[in-house]
Amino acid sequence: MKQVLGHDKVRTAFGEALQDGRLHHAWFLYGIKGIGKASLAEQLTALFLCESPDFHTYQACGQCHACAMLHVGSHPDVSKIERLYDAKKKKYNRDINIAQTREALGFLALSGLKSQKRVLMIDDANLMNNQAANALLKGLEEPTEGSLLLIVCHDLMRLPATIRSRCMMQACAPLNESDMQEVLKQQDMKEALLPLAIELGQGSPGRVTTLLDGQHATALLAWQDMLADLPHSDIGLMQKWLDKYVKEIPHDLIANMVLSAAHDAMQEAPNWATSSKIYEALAAVASWQKEVVRHTLRPAPALMSYVLQLRAVLKEK
Ligand SMILES: [Zn+2]
Repeated sequence: MKQVLGHDKVRTAFGEALQDGRLHHAWFLYGIKGIGKASLAEQLTALFLCESPDFHTYQACGQCHACAMLHVGSHPDVSKIERLYDAKKKKYNRDINIAQTREALGFLALSGLKSQKRVLMIDDANLMNNQAANALLKGLEEPTEGSLLLIVCHDLMRLPATIRSRCMMQACAPLNESDMQEVLKQQDMKEALLPLAIELGQGSPGRVTTLLDGQHATALLAWQDMLADLPHSDIGLMQKWLDKYVKEIPHDLIANMVLSAAHDAMQEAPNWATSSKIYEALAAVASWQKEVVRHTLRPAPALMSYVLQLRAVLKEK
């Protein structure tokens, strides 16, 4: 089984409740994207179903029949709902619908084939539409013996408070630096990229998966070089870089690299006037993604203009 790092607090709370026989029937795991909430839910599922769990480390044994079935993804008492892929339209559905939710809750209400335990995981629960959320609410009000519902969500406010109030709410924090480093290594992130990945990832390995792509990694390192000496960097090259990569690399990474490169310059600014000018230019970069959406601007030229504004301020300094 995949090792899950971080989230010790949640795992311990779950393990203790399980050990004491007072496990709540619905656990709601929330936190920012990309920190391993779904993997944590899988780990809790294993702990719940395992025939001889370790109650010191709160890990499943990895050896018993239940663990073996989970490992190959064929445990009959586990089900998952997530956004479905529409093969005809060649894209993911916009939301999780009521039919999916009802079917899954029906599964949860049946008594187990192998044991009396059943687990349903809802991934990206923030994508449930209103009808689906209402159906879920009904399921939460009438829990069946031995059933466990694990709800994974990165946008808490998208689900009604009535759902949240019926669940055991668990905040999942971003990973600390050493866990982050460990997870990235497990994903075969190149050693040379680790510092950049840790800085940009901000505790969320999922944010920097693009760095696992060799070409994107090389491109982002080149972008970092150009930004390191922004006042003297080649405008033509930056332009070319943005034209090519703004379509391929997540915008928040591109913008965050600009922000972190200029952050030191702001701290070292000779006076308040310069510092506040740098701040203004950085604020423009930070709002770039939203501006592009709001005013339907073309992303590459829009960011380039903000970068030039920042470059001019840094040159003055
Ligand atoms: Zn086991």
